[in-house]
Amino acid sequence: MVNDNDAPRLAVIGAGPGGYPASFFGAERGLQVTLIDPEPDPGGVCLYRGCIPSKALLHVARLIQETRDAGEWGVRFGEPEIDLDALRAWKDAVVRKMTNGLGLIRRQREVEYVQGLGRLRGGHTVSVQHNGEVSELEFDYAVLATGSSPVLPGAFDIDSPRVMDSTTALELPEIPERLLVVGGGYIGLEMGSVYAALGSKVTVVEMLPSILAGVDPDLVRILERRLSAEFEEILLKTQVAVLNETAEGIEVELSSSEVELETRVFDAVLVSVGRRPNTKGLGLESTQIRVNDRGFIETDGQRRSTEPSIFAIGDVAGEPMLAHKATHEARVAIEAIAGEPAAFDPLAIPAVVFTDPEIAWCGLTEAEALAKNMDVTTARFPWAASSRAATMDRKDGLTKLVLEAGTERVVGVGIVGPGAGELIGEGVLAVEMGARATDLAHSIHAHPTLSETLMESAEVFFGRSAHYIGRQR
Ligand code: FAD
Repeated sequence: MVNDNDAPRLAVIGAGPGGYPASFFGAERGLQVTLIDPEPDPGGVCLYRGCIPSKALLHVARLIQETRDAGEWGVRFGEPEIDLDALRAWKDAVVRKMTNGLGLIRRQREVEYVQGLGRLRGGHTVSVQHNGEVSELEFDYAVLATGSSPVLPGAFDIDSPRVMDSTTALELPEIPERLLVVGGGYIGLEMGSVYAALGSKVTVVEMLPSILAGVDPDLVRILERRLSAEFEEILLKTQVAVLNETAEGIEVELSSSEVELETRVFDAVLVSVGRRPNTKGLGLESTQIRVNDRGFIETDGQRRSTEPSIFAIGDVAGEPMLAHKATHEARVAIEAIAGEPAAFDPLAIPAVVFTDPEIAWCGLTEAEALAKNMDVTTARFPWAASSRAATMDRKDGLTKLVLEAGTERVVGVGIVGPGAGELIGEGVLAVEMGARATDLAHSIHAHPTLSETLMESAEVFFGRSAHYIGRQR
């Protein structure tokens, strides 16, 4: 559609996976769109310092691990030689290729791009600051998609280059001999896996009783077993009390309710204890926009904020802080602005931890379903019974269905194993389309593939799996 000068003006602030799709969808509907972001091209955290660089490095980590595993299969490789400069350059090239590509698409869609930091001046004006210069533009509608930033609690703020957040860790400044990862969430475990594969001795501390809090324990256990072999140690129910930089490295005092822990020294510390929404300096006080007690912008089901002309999407608008959630919200917000029927109402937002093995889930976890007092039953197919997993020497995986008792409707799917992140797509479709266990069981899946484990777990539910004679109904 060609933009015309009377078309409503849309300002999109932040060009991550929320903001850049919002600008493209807006342009497709004929709005006059301006996209504002400090980077030279769209991409946001996800492309510049999140999803993409981390997955490029995890790809390398997986390759290194596979060459080690191959020894068991009669193929022996030598120890890898890591050329850190070349690795960094390759990762940066992956990012550049994608951000350049988005820049090209933006130009093709005739989206104006203003480089700089946006600040609202009321409900219809935004000022943009770049290199000391300030410009202003008026809008009929705005979409806030300013994302989030890593949290650095005071105890870690010791002004040392050895204390990293995910952004610095992704820059690969060096490969520390001893790395402490604070926080056993997905970012800490993914980055810990990268550094462990590159040669660091990695210790993870997590204050909760489990890594990946909120994920079903039967899935986490399988990952934890493998990570325990790759990492030096995983310390649960443990907190970092004090950090000090000394000539030997970073001295860390760990505290735990269960055991007396000594002070340890690490060459680097990666702090990955959470992220906070970027609302500071956004000028929200000049509008009627409200934020909730966790700092997220409050929105309705169409992602409209309490200032009627302004919408908020992505990390700044709430959990889960995931790129694909941001993109889906972009679609909803733009449809609402265009006056089309729209609501953010997904049954299944997939989440993937890209460790080895990967963990992926969607819909309700078993724990969530039980917490809601739902009458559910589960069906599990262990990959020990999968021929494809056997050919990959990866029999430690598990595919699990969470089914509504009585209707056998699939309300959740959890998978742990290599490629779980790809497999979960079928789970999303099943949950969103209200599939029943019968639908999965009766859909022919190619053999031998890991996707068969979804079909087979449904067959386990009916007590007629061809390959698994474990506990069947
Ligand atoms: P962002 O991507 O954060 O983009 C916001 C943009 O707004 C940024 O460019 C920022 O500079 C800009 N901005 C901020 N303030 C202003 C302002 N005042 N004016 C103009 N621009 C502004 N998610 C996944 O789904 N899968 C993954 O595998 C994954 N891996 C991750 C790995 C790491 C290490 C990290 C840190 C995150 C990862 N995430 C992943 C999360 C994902 O990056 C975020 O959920 C996603 O980027 C959120 O998109 P967004 O559009 O809300 O904001």
